[in-house]
Amino acid sequence: MFKGIAVSPGVVVGVAYRVDSVFAPTEKQTLADPSLVDDEIAKFDHAVAVTSVELETFVQKIAQQLGQAEAEIFKSHLQIVNDQSLLSRVHELIRTHQNTAISALQIVMQGFTATFAQIQQDHFRDRLGDIRDVISKIGSHLTLQPNLGPGTVANGEFDHQDQPVILVAHEILPSQAISLGNLVIAGIVTEIGGGTSHAAILARSRGIPAVSGVIGITSQVTTGDHMVVDGREGVVLIRPDSETNSAYRKLQREFFNLKDRLILNRDLPSISSDGTQVELLANINNVTDAQTAMTVGATGVGLLRTEYLFLTHQDVPDEEEQYQYYRQIIEDAPNKTVTIRTLDLGGDKTVPYLGRRNEPNPFMGWRSIRLSFEHPRLFERQIRAILRSGRHGRVSMLFPMITRLEELRQVNLIVEETKRNLRREGVPFGENVKTGVMVEVPAAAICIDAILRETDFISIGSNDLIQYLNAADRDNPKVAHLCEPLSPAIFKVLQMVLEACQRMGTPVTLCGEMAGQPRSVLTLFGLGLRRFSMSPAFVPTIKELLSSVTTAQAERFAHHVLQLKTSEEIRGYLTSRLREVSSTLEVFDSA
Ligand code: PEP
Ligand code: MG
Repeated sequence: MFKGIAVSPGVVVGVAYRVDSVFAPTEKQTLADPSLVDDEIAKFDHAVAVTSVELETFVQKIAQQLGQAEAEIFKSHLQIVNDQSLLSRVHELIRTHQNTAISALQIVMQGFTATFAQIQQDHFRDRLGDIRDVISKIGSHLTLQPNLGPGTVANGEFDHQDQPVILVAHEILPSQAISLGNLVIAGIVTEIGGGTSHAAILARSRGIPAVSGVIGITSQVTTGDHMVVDGREGVVLIRPDSETNSAYRKLQREFFNLKDRLILNRDLPSISSDGTQVELLANINNVTDAQTAMTVGATGVGLLRTEYLFLTHQDVPDEEEQYQYYRQIIEDAPNKTVTIRTLDLGGDKTVPYLGRRNEPNPFMGWRSIRLSFEHPRLFERQIRAILRSGRHGRVSMLFPMITRLEELRQVNLIVEETKRNLRREGVPFGENVKTGVMVEVPAAAICIDAILRETDFISIGSNDLIQYLNAADRDNPKVAHLCEPLSPAIFKVLQMVLEACQRMGTPVTLCGEMAGQPRSVLTLFGLGLRRFSMSPAFVPTIKELLSSVTTAQAERFAHHVLQLKTSEEIRGYLTSRLREVSSTLEVFDSA
């Protein structure tokens, strides 16, 4: 039995499907028969050729979209993929040692790593990173599993086509998030990542039980193993005995039954038991999520994370591609209502052409709006695409990671100038697109009054606000206990921000993960929040919860929470209140 962090509720019993990094220290693999050598070399050469063509297109696109300077970096990737000494070394390993091509690549990579380890200069470290990128690209073509994302290989043969699997991986990269759609995934277990990491957000948005921070799990599980994932308790069992297996199967059935029952409320209004209206919106990453938002009964999209378009795009999406993509999402979204957030890359979400390698502190560094400011062409193109898409629905534009008023003013100037340009060019756009600020850096929360005077609306990004308030990395399981929403500091800050919005009459949404967690929601509703944006799978639960509580009751709960001094007290108090309000919904709260 393994214990990790419960990041997405529910119980699942199923079969493991392990995904390794191309560079995971696995045993050397050799070909079953020497007669396969030529085929293996041909397979490798094909993967190299495909990678080379891909890189050439990539370099051209980057030069067009971002500029020659950015494209230069990738020209060195082209040199690496065409480097004869690298290719012949792989050939030699396949021919003389009968290594599989992927194994030969791993050996070559290990050789480079050992050589470069002796050299301290940054230049060589970057070069090693470049080699790694290229080898990882070749590797993903070799495994013929590009749907698992770059740099990953499946462990062992397994026909997963029609069997739901429990995905086991060291980490799930944001770039893999969407392609996972091709596998039928019933559960997710990862070694790293916390409650608001991308694997967690992905799992929750699809309603898939998940546990993170399970150190060592990849070395214990083999593809095909039977497993249990308990996303309420953060427990993972490998090869359980038949008694345990049937006990968990029963829990799994109960959980599904409850979900099936809750989804029936999709057409009911979102109101508290005494009739206070609330808006339940969805956080989405792509078109499929927009459709899910509709099926669960969300009234709109409160957060579209546009970085997923960039993370999964072969190169850089241009203005037209972005426009078409936003338009499609708006057309599929409930009430054609979508809040589109501009790029929030950096931190744990990087694309090779934006963001620096080896940032010592990626979440505190060159991320999000900071990165957009340094790529004005890219930023302006995104704003143009969003403004143009604004003709097709009720669209708002949201700016992430705003830290100081100066940044907000700069953003406002850029938006005004972009509108002037569009008008001058005669390009139609949505004149009513509102602009808003994500309040997710404590500095912005503290200076909220000044911010509110210069923006149309705000959206509280509690995932980041919690990590920055507590100085605790949201992706690091070692500090996960400090990254929880149920704490005195976070509720005090939220109270301050919500009161300021009420005073100024500014619309406010909360779009962090706590908007879908029952105990937090009881308190937030009591503090006066009326717009919640969450992973679509939670909408039915939160609707049911709010319909079971009166406004006065929630206000009493919130008032009491604000008097409590420790997280433990808050957790205990809210758990009891939740049980009183609705005894069945506790299973959905993994916070
Ligand atoms: C947040 O920070 O709360 C948020 C919603 O944005 P993200 O999780 O994408 O950083
Ligand atoms: Mg954020």
